Amino acid sequence: MNCKDFERLIPEFLRSNMNYSQMEAFREHMDNCESCKEELSIQFLVAEGMRHLEDDGAFDLQIEMEKRLAQNSLKIDRHNRFILIRRYFLTTLFSMLGVVLLYLFG
Ligand SMILES: [Zn+2]
Repeated sequence: MNCKDFERLIPEFLRSNMNYSQMEAFREHMDNCESCKEELSIQFLVAEGMRHLEDDGAFDLQIEMEKRLAQNSLKIDRHNRFILIRRYFLTTLFSMLGVVLLYLFG
């Protein structure tokens, strides 16, 4: 992901509207690119600030932002774990199938 892709995804991030591969690439780019990280912070502050102004105005944007990022990381972790379990399951299934086939036809 380059900086242009990242910028394009910022609105999706703000709407919590990214898929897993996007989230992962987004997170990775942010960790390695200070200017995009800053850009995201600014856009997040603006978007969330506007939203909260309509509420009571008492909120901590830094915490909100970290919460959102932590949520994304959690989703990614869960998703990766699911893929790992599925892979393990399929590997086990296929090796069992192999044994059965060997037994039947070997
Ligand atoms: Zn960048």
